[in-house]
Amino acid sequence: MINKNEIELLRGALDKLESGFTDLPDFRPDVDEKALAAVLDEVATRMQDNYPYYHPQYAGQMLKPPHPIARIAYAMSLWINPNNHALDGGRASSAMEKECISDLGAMFGWENPLGHLTGGGTMANLEALWVAGKLHPGKRVLASEQAHYTHKRISEVLKIPFSPVSVTADGRMDVADIERQLDKGDVGVVVATMGNTGLGAVDPLADILKLQERYEFRIHADAAYGGYFTLCDDLNADTRRAYDSLSQVDSIVIDPHKHGLQPYGCGCILYQDPSVGSLYQHDSPYTYFSSAELHLGEISLECSRAGASAVALWATQKLLPLRTGGEFASRLSLSLKAARQLHRRLADNESFTPLMAPELDIVVYRVNADDTKAASAAAHKLFERAAQNGLHLAMIELSTELLGHYLEDVEINSKTVTCLRSVMMKPEHDDWCERIVELLERSLP
Ligand SMILES: *Cc1c(COP(=O)(O)O)cnc(C)c1O
Repeated sequence: MINKNEIELLRGALDKLESGFTDLPDFRPDVDEKALAAVLDEVATRMQDNYPYYHPQYAGQMLKPPHPIARIAYAMSLWINPNNHALDGGRASSAMEKECISDLGAMFGWENPLGHLTGGGTMANLEALWVAGKLHPGKRVLASEQAHYTHKRISEVLKIPFSPVSVTADGRMDVADIERQLDKGDVGVVVATMGNTGLGAVDPLADILKLQERYEFRIHADAAYGGYFTLCDDLNADTRRAYDSLSQVDSIVIDPHKHGLQPYGCGCILYQDPSVGSLYQHDSPYTYFSSAELHLGEISLECSRAGASAVALWATQKLLPLRTGGEFASRLSLSLKAARQLHRRLADNESFTPLMAPELDIVVYRVNADDTKAASAAAHKLFERAAQNGLHLAMIELSTELLGHYLEDVEINSKTVTCLRSVMMKPEHDDWCERIVELLERSLP
């Protein structure tokens, strides 16, 4: 679980790192190791107050442990502590970041994207909507009512009008509703979520793209959670169709700290057209906007950024290249498999009703009860009892309207229903699925 042998790998890497700086006179920072040890002991004790996010019995929110290569490379780079704001602060790590961006772009079929890493998906989406707002001033942002809440809030920050789009029974954006809104002539950008955070549903990107034949608007793909699934060769046919359209959008956000095996603090924004870099212009003396020459500080709204994030991501992509059929992709397919297995087992279980079949690795399910109020109460109870049994879940509040036919034979006496939600994002989840369902049954109120 906590593999302390990684420390030996870190030590070896630090030896190699140090050997590059031996021509400088030696110096040692003054460290009172005893004082450090005492504080660290306290820190480790404090950190015990966490859910075991790294364990397969954590089957709740979107939390996935970083790969050891990412953890070690990140830690090693902290002895240099590069800042990827500018080349002065992080020469090697800026070069590594550009290579990462190039590989992430290639994963979506882009040859020469402009992009950079960010602190996370929120910041990356903010940049995408900021660019959209500059290119279509005063026009609206449309995003699914199941899109991440950050889009509505970002739009407020940017003072861009925002409108939610309703979803169909499968949790995807309703294309007819998008069209009705486009008819008003004031939409600047449509956000398509490639795997929404609540349900894991993938918006029908191919159909949204088709609307560009008749209306002029940008498309931004929020693939913060779902982006990497484009590498899987076992997606459902219509999910695949949406992913195959990704190369035609204007901008993409992907979070390496969600499914890319990275520690937190690693999001990414990519633009298909590198010329949008000119919108970032500020009064720095350097102005390179072709992606071949980009200076990361010139094309990012954040200034100081952890170069360590780029080092960790580069190391991970080196070990596990972003290739269909490769090891990274097959580990991702295991989480698809796990979600499908959980959905199947819950469908066969008389105590639960799973909602829509998973497109990616999120399974949402309700507890069976006579009415919706009782179903919600049971979900809350089960959530707590499961945690006592060592199984950690998440909850989601959904409207009875959205639940539609999943509420057959249930009396509707509330506007919403609390459901349970499991993100089966660890490769081990497939092997642990049977046990997870056993624990669910044992935790029933
Ligand atoms: C997680 C997520 C975000 C927000 O990203 P952070 O990295 O948490 O800031 C945005 N959109 C989607 C679809 C997400 O899953």
